Amino acid sequence: MIIQLAKNTDLSEKEDLKQKIGTFGIKVTEVRTQMGDYLIGIGNKDFDIRKIGHLKGVQDIHIVSDDYKLVSKKWKVKPTSIDLGDGIRIEDGSMAIIAGPCSIESEEQIARVIQHLKENNIKMMRGGVFKPRSSPYAFRGLGLDGLKWWYEQAKAAGIKIVTEVMQVSQIEEMVDYVDIFQVGARNTQNFNLLDELGKVDKAVMIKRGISGTIEELLQSAEYVFSGGNEKIILCERGIRTYERASRNTLDLNAVPILKSKSHLPVIVDPSHGIGIREFVPQMALAGVMSGADGIIYEAHENPEKAYSDGQQTLNFQQSALLAAQIRKTFALRKTFQLL
Ligand code: PEP
Ligand code: MN
Repeated sequence: MIIQLAKNTDLSEKEDLKQKIGTFGIKVTEVRTQMGDYLIGIGNKDFDIRKIGHLKGVQDIHIVSDDYKLVSKKWKVKPTSIDLGDGIRIEDGSMAIIAGPCSIESEEQIARVIQHLKENNIKMMRGGVFKPRSSPYAFRGLGLDGLKWWYEQAKAAGIKIVTEVMQVSQIEEMVDYVDIFQVGARNTQNFNLLDELGKVDKAVMIKRGISGTIEELLQSAEYVFSGGNEKIILCERGIRTYERASRNTLDLNAVPILKSKSHLPVIVDPSHGIGIREFVPQMALAGVMSGADGIIYEAHENPEKAYSDGQQTLNFQQSALLAAQIRKTFALRKTFQLL
């Protein structure tokens, strides 16, 4: 059960309300976000909401039977729009393109990628400065220095920064330089990290866990929301299956399912999804058709020399072509009557 509190509900009214609801055997958790105050009631599924609907401070009540609640469409039908400023948004009914290298490598590399993005009217750049690597001997990122160089250049170019945060202690040092915090597939269920990202006023993109279900991804989003941050984007990036011919199995089924269950925007990462450069464009376009609100892919001036994930990274020519094809495919999708 989600109880939306009326604006201006004071502390004692809130306490009265919590106490009253508690008497019906319901456990109440208070959630405060940038957008509003809520009480989440758990237990007693057959509860008759008319018993509390009239109480002072209650603006609206919704019964949400799923384990995730605040991210559910059963409560909030209107899609959530992520406003990054400067007219840049990730939202239902539009097509966000996020491109850039797997890893940030140097100031010169940043400049070349930004130039490429500007030439192709791409407004959001991805790149890791803290890299989760399967081997401890692989390149692990330039860290905060790399992020600061990136920030200076991106700001001057009007480009938004999407980058992975790996641990709680990095949030504070990164927050001023980041537009979207990426939670990587290895951290989807790092609940401490999700809790802490609930406290920042920056968007959070949560990737689906390597072996994570759709339900688990939504539960992870619920952590961030209930921590106080409603600016969440879900990302399908492939899951591990028995299939070995591709890096992961890009589960495009997840896109319409997530969109039907949640009001949050959903984007697709075909680069990590299939992991094979020459097939990234096909899967990106399939992602557009599956109903995604955006595509995030890896691009580098010289993928063969990339410090990480070169095998799945497009060169600038391929990236320019793909960006144009994504837009064309999206325009076509809009002419169809899909849910
Ligand atoms: C990445 O985006 O480069 C990355 C490491 O992604 P994932 O967490 O999906 O593996
Ligand atoms: Mn990568």
